[in-house]
Amino acid sequence: MLCWIPMDLGLANRRRDGVIIGSPLWARGYSMTVIFQCGSCSQKIYATNESGGSTLQCANCFHPSVVPTTLPRANEIADRIEDLLIKQDYVAGIFVRLSRVGATTRMEALHALYIVMAQTFQAVFRRPTTTDTQKKFDEVACAAGSIQFRFGGLTPLLPDAELDLIVKLHNVDDTHDSQRTDESREEKVRRFERRLEFSNEEQRLQLLAMSDAAWNQSETMDSFVSFLRTLDPAGQDYWTAVYGRIGQPCPLPDDQRKAAPSPESEKSWWRRLFS
Ligand SMILES: [Zn+2]
Repeated sequence: MLCWIPMDLGLANRRRDGVIIGSPLWARGYSMTVIFQCGSCSQKIYATNESGGSTLQCANCFHPSVVPTTLPRANEIADRIEDLLIKQDYVAGIFVRLSRVGATTRMEALHALYIVMAQTFQAVFRRPTTTDTQKKFDEVACAAGSIQFRFGGLTPLLPDAELDLIVKLHNVDDTHDSQRTDESREEKVRRFERRLEFSNEEQRLQLLAMSDAAWNQSETMDSFVSFLRTLDPAGQDYWTAVYGRIGQPCPLPDDQRKAAPSPESEKSWWRRLFS
């Protein structure tokens, strides 16, 4: 079951609890390289953090792999989503630009939400929990589920190129000046034509988002959280299981950068929320 709550009760709750979300902590001190193993020949593949969500061919066996979305990148994407929801930064009133979210594909944006949920779950449940922390966790999970639902069709998340026409057709005057009495008959006809064109394009884009098979076949946040509850949050194989569940290879530790802080050592938003 999808949980339906107003967006301002969602991830933004982190702020309401007195938690200030700073500029990306994740941008500091991290390796910009992600290393993972080819799913076919186990060859180590090196890619940039920013290529998360795109598909790379293994240089050894040519097997295609999705570059995993790292924890820092997933958090950056989640922070951008939160920011745009707070600012209601929509295109033509309801659409969300993929570039605004900072993900390579729609699916990467969804995977980033899963990864942040997994990280939050681990932070909360690997030590004794209180009713309060469990309640907060449920609220965050609920908000993430709501975003998944919205981006799927109500406030569709779409690649920038798809939104070019709707931006051109979006004319606030057309929608708000219906009470005007001073316009000529010709002006009125043109205005209605523009509105019709806008509605048609709006419908096309909504259908486009709603017919994304990969998105529609992906599990709900509720289902993903139920899966997390079957895992040992302190287990060695926790992240392998999480990445396996979302169909991405698990990022490997970067041996050459042992000095780099682990994500857990940073004061990330979830740590501040649950501390
Ligand atoms: Zn390979």
